[in-house]
Amino acid sequence: MATGKAYSFVDHSHDVVVVGAGGAGLRATLGMAEQGLRTACITKVFPTRSHTVAAQGGIAASLTNMTPDSWQWHMYDTVKGSDWLGDVDAMEYMTREAPAAVYELEHYGVPFSRTEEGKIYQRPFGGHMQNFGDGPPVQRTCAAADRTGHAILHTLYGQALRHNAEFYVEYFALDLIMSKDGICTGVIAWNLDDGTIHRFSAKMVVLATGGYGRAYFSATSAHTCTGDGGGMVARAGLPLQDMEFVQFHPTGIYGSGCLITEGARGEGGYLVNSEGERFMERYAPSAKDLASRDVVSRCMTIEIREGRGVGKNKDHIFLHLDHLDPALLHERLPGISESAKIFAGVDLTKEPIPVLPTVHYNMGGVPTNYWGEVLNPTKNDPNAIQPGLMAVGEAGCASVHGANRLGSNSLIDLVVFGRAAAIKAGEVVDRKASVPSPDEASCDAIMDRFDRLRHANGGTPTYQLRDRMQRAMQEDAAVFRTSETLDQGCKRISTIWDEMADIKVSDRSMIWNSDLVETIELTNLMANAITTVYSAEARKESRGAHAREDFSKRDDENWRKHTLAWVDEAGKVTLDYRPVITETLLPVEQGGIDPKKILPKERVY
Ligand SMILES: Cc1cc2nc3c(=O)[nH]c(=O)nc-3n(C[C@H](O)[C@H](O)[C@H](O)COP(=O)(O)OP(=O)(O)OC[C@H]3O[C@@H](n4cnc5c(N)ncnc54)[C@H](O)[C@@H]3O)c2cc1C
Repeated sequence: MATGKAYSFVDHSHDVVVVGAGGAGLRATLGMAEQGLRTACITKVFPTRSHTVAAQGGIAASLTNMTPDSWQWHMYDTVKGSDWLGDVDAMEYMTREAPAAVYELEHYGVPFSRTEEGKIYQRPFGGHMQNFGDGPPVQRTCAAADRTGHAILHTLYGQALRHNAEFYVEYFALDLIMSKDGICTGVIAWNLDDGTIHRFSAKMVVLATGGYGRAYFSATSAHTCTGDGGGMVARAGLPLQDMEFVQFHPTGIYGSGCLITEGARGEGGYLVNSEGERFMERYAPSAKDLASRDVVSRCMTIEIREGRGVGKNKDHIFLHLDHLDPALLHERLPGISESAKIFAGVDLTKEPIPVLPTVHYNMGGVPTNYWGEVLNPTKNDPNAIQPGLMAVGEAGCASVHGANRLGSNSLIDLVVFGRAAAIKAGEVVDRKASVPSPDEASCDAIMDRFDRLRHANGGTPTYQLRDRMQRAMQEDAAVFRTSETLDQGCKRISTIWDEMADIKVSDRSMIWNSDLVETIELTNLMANAITTVYSAEARKESRGAHAREDFSKRDDENWRKHTLAWVDEAGKVTLDYRPVITETLLPVEQGGIDPKKILPKERVY
């Protein structure tokens, strides 16, 4: 049988290589190239097909165009939304930079919806409130109808092309090249179109590979959201952080999982049970249908469990928009009107949409500081930096979303931290230094693994193993969790890990081999899935999206800490913890938030 040595490389050398061309990858690429760093951007799909294109509702920033607002209120809501697990410095940085980042997007050409005065239109979104959570909902979410991600992604791609970044489109990144002394020096990628293998050497690699929603059976994310960055990082022996926190969006269309944006509730939509009751009023008297996503998803699940679900099997909930003016729906929510028609056969101006909580976002990912630099915590330094590697966007964990992300806080995370990573790289990348040459042993190991998968000739096709993984995750690492389900989840995922040895790939070709692509993606999903269930099993409390029925309270004394999870080749998961960063950046005298304001307390809606 051939070995990895059978492959020859096309070699490239750059200052920076960005893997991923979603919102985060494009903003980082643009910023790097703008500063004259020789930058390559590698992406497995055409840039404007990245999942960011599907983002609907909008991007959060305290612009004050429609209601009073301040970055301090936005920061407070983000800290509270995170259930006090986010790193305070990163949350402050993001909310403070947010307005400038949105104006920058406006100047780049994003066609935002407008108010009558011509300002950027902003809608209310879950968990975003006025006056440090004491006031009514704030209108903070800047929107381009319900196609905000589409507008942002296309604009950023256009801007990135203005600079001299080199795009490698439909190149699949396989693994990180690591030097003997543990520095990341590049990445190996497979050109899907002609089958050649490319070795990208760089002084800095930026992972912007997105989330891993497809580890679950029902997800709003694209089929390409397979956590490849997390897989690469795990194989490089580095940890993933807070993987147990998986966000369920309250309103995936029943059956297909296709998303109905929270903007629908922001514009006045509401949920009802089989008794026609607006049950969110009972659970969250002040925020109601605009409570944060973890809360609404749990309430819906309780309603269904207690027999008040709608439909023949009483297994979903109705979302009403039919009381709203059809002209408003047409203007503000044209995309979801279409989705409801196609995926539920419903005319939302006349009937409710059947919805169900659906996996939507991964709060966990590759740990970083607020400059996007990847952390490799040691006993003495929980914030030690991994040289040569950055991570931004949903693949990273800065951590601004902590245990639960607020709606519209991801798009802002992409552009703020994409830009921050570029600023940092501008400082730390030595333009005059030579590009490190790739470590041959590391490259051989990567290609041996590739070759093993390409020629895998076991008894179980990839799709069967993927199906088993997705069902195990859906059933055992769900909205509500118990020791029993999580124990069972760990066992099921570990068994599937072992069964991966028996995988069968039927197509051995190198050109557009989707069988092999899906197999490599499955290995990446598995690294994410296994760290998710084991981290969840270990966390004996409820916080944000992690709701345990056997430990129903948040336990700040023992559990206000980030989980770190390593997984080795044999599927053994090792866990450790890292303290949450609680220091603010700006002193109170200079307008910074008073640290007392953001001490943990009960979340009331
Ligand atoms: C339906 C939907 C609606 C949403 N709506 C909103 C919203 O309104 N507001 C909000 O704030 N958030 C929203 N979110 C969340 C937000 O859109 C995502 O978290 C965000 O877009 C992720 O962006 P990203 O740049 O990190 O990754 P992505 O946009 O997922 O891009 C990943 C990139 O990595 C590349 N890549 C991955 N693996 C490899 C590999 N092995 N080799 C080469 N390239 C690779 C891909 O080609 C792609 O270019 C929504 C999410 C979904 C699913």
